[in-house]
Amino acid sequence: MLLLNLNTIRTAQERFEQVYPPEQFEQDEDFTVAAPVTLAFDIFKDKKQFRLVGRVRTTLELPCGRCLEPFAMDVDAQFDLRYQPHAENTGEGEREIEEDDLTTAFYERDEIDLGHLMGEQFYLSLPMKPLCSDACHGLCPVCGTNLNRGTCECKRDWEDPRLKPLKALQDQDHKGH
Ligand SMILES: [Zn+2]
Ligand SMILES: [Zn+2]
Repeated sequence: MLLLNLNTIRTAQERFEQVYPPEQFEQDEDFTVAAPVTLAFDIFKDKKQFRLVGRVRTTLELPCGRCLEPFAMDVDAQFDLRYQPHAENTGEGEREIEEDDLTTAFYERDEIDLGHLMGEQFYLSLPMKPLCSDACHGLCPVCGTNLNRGTCECKRDWEDPRLKPLKALQDQDHKGH
Protein backbone atom coordinates (compact mmCIF):
# COMPACT_ATOMS: atom_id res chain seq x y z
CA MET A 1 0.00 0.00 0.00
CA LEU A 2 1.28 3.40 -0.98
CA LEU A 3 -0.22 5.81 1.48
CA LEU A 4 0.02 9.57 1.61
CA ASN A 5 -0.10 10.79 5.18
CA LEU A 6 -2.20 13.95 5.07
CA ASN A 7 -0.73 15.17 8.34
CA THR A 8 2.45 15.95 6.43
CA ILE A 9 0.57 18.46 4.24
CA ARG A 10 0.89 21.68 6.21
CA THR A 11 0.42 24.43 3.64
CA ALA A 12 -2.40 25.31 1.24
CA GLN A 13 -0.52 23.99 -1.77
CA GLU A 14 2.27 21.48 -1.99
CA ARG A 15 4.01 19.58 -4.73
CA PHE A 16 4.33 15.84 -4.62
CA GLU A 17 6.59 13.84 -6.90
CA GLN A 18 7.61 10.25 -6.57
CA VAL A 19 8.87 7.44 -8.72
CA TYR A 20 7.84 3.92 -7.76
CA PRO A 21 9.50 0.74 -8.99
CA PRO A 22 7.12 -1.58 -10.85
CA GLU A 23 7.55 -4.30 -8.21
CA GLN A 24 5.61 -2.15 -5.78
CA PHE A 25 2.44 -2.73 -7.75
CA GLU A 26 0.44 -5.84 -7.19
CA GLN A 27 -0.04 -8.12 -10.11
CA ASP A 28 -3.33 -7.35 -11.78
CA GLU A 29 -5.18 -9.80 -13.98
CA ASP A 30 -5.67 -7.23 -16.74
CA PHE A 31 -2.20 -5.71 -16.92
CA THR A 32 1.31 -5.65 -15.51
CA VAL A 33 3.17 -2.49 -14.55
CA ALA A 34 6.26 -2.79 -16.73
CA ALA A 35 8.23 0.37 -15.98
CA PRO A 36 8.85 2.75 -13.09
CA VAL A 37 5.76 4.78 -12.28
CA THR A 38 6.12 8.55 -12.05
CA LEU A 39 3.46 10.18 -9.93
CA ALA A 40 3.41 13.97 -9.76
CA PHE A 41 0.68 16.24 -8.50
CA ASP A 42 -0.14 19.45 -6.74
CA ILE A 43 -2.10 18.98 -3.57
CA PHE A 44 -4.42 21.76 -2.47
CA LYS A 45 -5.51 21.74 1.12
CA ASP A 46 -8.69 23.42 2.30
CA LYS A 47 -9.21 22.54 5.95
CA LYS A 48 -10.05 18.82 5.78
CA GLN A 49 -10.58 18.73 2.02
CA PHE A 50 -7.82 17.91 -0.41
CA ARG A 51 -7.65 18.28 -4.15
CA LEU A 52 -5.02 16.40 -6.12
CA VAL A 53 -4.24 17.64 -9.63
CA GLY A 54 -1.54 15.87 -11.56
CA ARG A 55 -0.56 12.96 -13.71
CA VAL A 56 0.76 9.45 -13.52
CA ARG A 57 3.06 8.03 -16.17
CA THR A 58 4.32 4.54 -16.80
CA THR A 59 4.27 1.65 -19.25
CA LEU A 60 1.77 -1.14 -18.82
CA GLU A 61 1.97 -4.54 -20.37
CA LEU A 62 -1.31 -6.12 -21.35
CA PRO A 63 -2.45 -9.01 -23.51
CA CYS A 64 -3.58 -8.31 -27.06
CA GLY A 65 -7.28 -9.04 -27.48
CA ARG A 66 -6.62 -10.88 -30.74
CA CYS A 67 -3.33 -12.78 -30.46
CA LEU A 68 -3.08 -12.80 -26.62
CA GLU A 69 0.61 -11.79 -26.76
CA PRO A 70 1.59 -9.19 -24.17
CA PHE A 71 2.39 -5.78 -25.57
CA ALA A 72 3.55 -2.51 -24.00
CA MET A 73 1.34 0.54 -23.75
CA ASP A 74 2.50 3.93 -22.53
CA VAL A 75 0.23 5.60 -20.02
CA ASP A 76 0.13 9.30 -19.28
CA ALA A 77 -3.02 9.85 -17.27
CA GLN A 78 -4.08 13.21 -15.91
CA PHE A 79 -6.34 13.47 -12.92
CA ASP A 80 -8.14 16.06 -10.84
CA LEU A 81 -9.53 14.43 -7.74
CA ARG A 82 -11.16 15.73 -4.60
CA TYR A 83 -10.94 13.98 -1.29
CA GLN A 84 -12.89 14.61 1.84
CA PRO A 85 -12.87 12.80 5.16
CA HIS A 86 -15.17 9.84 5.30
CA ALA A 87 -18.32 11.00 7.07
CA GLU A 88 -18.84 8.66 9.97
CA ASN A 89 -21.73 10.28 11.79
CA THR A 90 -24.19 10.91 8.98
CA GLY A 91 -27.24 8.75 8.43
CA GLU A 92 -27.10 5.98 5.86
CA GLY A 93 -29.25 7.85 3.35
CA GLU A 94 -27.05 10.92 3.35
CA ARG A 95 -23.91 8.92 2.89
CA GLU A 96 -25.28 7.10 -0.13
CA ILE A 97 -25.93 10.33 -1.95
CA GLU A 98 -22.39 11.50 -1.26
CA GLU A 99 -20.83 8.29 -2.49
CA ASP A 100 -22.67 8.66 -5.77
CA ASP A 101 -20.75 11.85 -6.42
CA LEU A 102 -17.94 10.55 -8.59
CA THR A 103 -15.83 13.69 -8.44
CA THR A 104 -15.29 13.25 -4.72
CA ALA A 105 -13.53 10.40 -3.04
CA PHE A 106 -13.15 9.76 0.65
CA TYR A 107 -10.13 9.25 2.78
CA GLU A 108 -9.88 7.58 6.13
CA ARG A 109 -7.44 7.85 9.02
CA ASP A 110 -5.80 10.94 7.47
CA GLU A 111 -4.42 8.92 4.60
CA ILE A 112 -4.96 8.83 0.85
CA ASP A 113 -4.21 5.51 -0.79
CA LEU A 114 -2.03 6.51 -3.72
CA GLY A 115 -1.74 2.91 -4.87
CA HIS A 116 -5.49 2.86 -5.33
CA LEU A 117 -5.42 6.23 -7.07
CA MET A 118 -2.80 5.04 -9.57
CA GLY A 119 -4.53 1.69 -10.08
CA GLU A 120 -7.73 3.51 -10.99
CA GLN A 121 -5.90 5.71 -13.46
CA PHE A 122 -4.35 2.65 -15.08
CA TYR A 123 -7.77 1.09 -15.47
CA LEU A 124 -9.19 4.26 -16.99
CA SER A 125 -6.32 4.23 -19.51
CA LEU A 126 -6.98 0.71 -20.74
CA PRO A 127 -8.40 0.61 -24.25
CA MET A 128 -11.75 -1.07 -24.78
CA LYS A 129 -10.14 -3.46 -27.24
CA PRO A 130 -6.41 -3.73 -26.56
CA LEU A 131 -4.51 -4.62 -29.73
CA CYS A 132 -0.76 -5.14 -30.12
CA SER A 133 -1.19 -3.51 -33.52
CA ASP A 134 -4.14 -2.51 -35.67
CA ALA A 135 -2.87 -5.01 -38.20
CA CYS A 136 -2.71 -7.89 -35.73
CA HIS A 137 -3.73 -11.10 -37.50
CA GLY A 138 -4.72 -12.87 -34.30
CA LEU A 139 -4.72 -16.59 -33.71
CA CYS A 140 -5.83 -19.33 -36.02
CA PRO A 141 -9.23 -20.35 -34.63
CA VAL A 142 -8.48 -23.98 -35.48
CA CYS A 143 -4.94 -24.67 -34.23
CA GLY A 144 -4.12 -21.54 -32.25
CA THR A 145 -1.06 -20.56 -34.28
CA ASN A 146 -0.14 -16.90 -33.85
CA LEU A 147 -0.66 -15.70 -37.41
CA ASN A 148 1.59 -12.69 -36.86
CA ARG A 149 4.52 -15.08 -36.54
CA GLY A 150 3.68 -17.94 -38.80
CA THR A 151 1.18 -19.67 -40.96
CA CYS A 152 -0.59 -22.96 -40.61
CA GLU A 153 -2.26 -25.40 -42.93
CA CYS A 154 -5.70 -25.10 -41.40
CA LYS A 155 -8.64 -24.42 -43.65
CA ARG A 156 -10.01 -21.22 -42.32
CA ASP A 157 -13.19 -19.55 -43.25
CA TRP A 158 -11.85 -16.54 -45.10
CA GLU A 159 -14.42 -16.63 -47.90
CA ASP A 160 -16.91 -13.92 -48.54
CA PRO A 161 -19.93 -15.01 -46.48
CA ARG A 162 -22.16 -14.14 -49.43
CA LEU A 163 -20.55 -16.98 -51.35
CA LYS A 164 -21.26 -19.53 -48.63
CA PRO A 165 -24.57 -20.85 -49.99
CA LEU A 166 -22.88 -21.44 -53.32
CA LYS A 167 -20.05 -23.34 -51.68
CA ALA A 168 -22.47 -25.48 -49.73
CA LEU A 169 -24.15 -26.43 -52.98
CA GLN A 170 -20.79 -27.35 -54.51
CA ASP A 171 -19.88 -29.50 -51.52
CA GLN A 172 -23.19 -31.28 -51.75
CA ASP A 173 -22.56 -31.85 -55.40
CA HIS A 174 -19.20 -33.43 -54.64
CA LYS A 175 -20.70 -35.79 -52.08
CA GLY A 176 -23.43 -36.78 -54.48
CA HIS A 177 -20.96 -38.20 -56.97
ZN1 LIG B 1 -2.06 -9.03 -31.35
ZN1 LIG C 1 -4.28 -23.22 -37.88
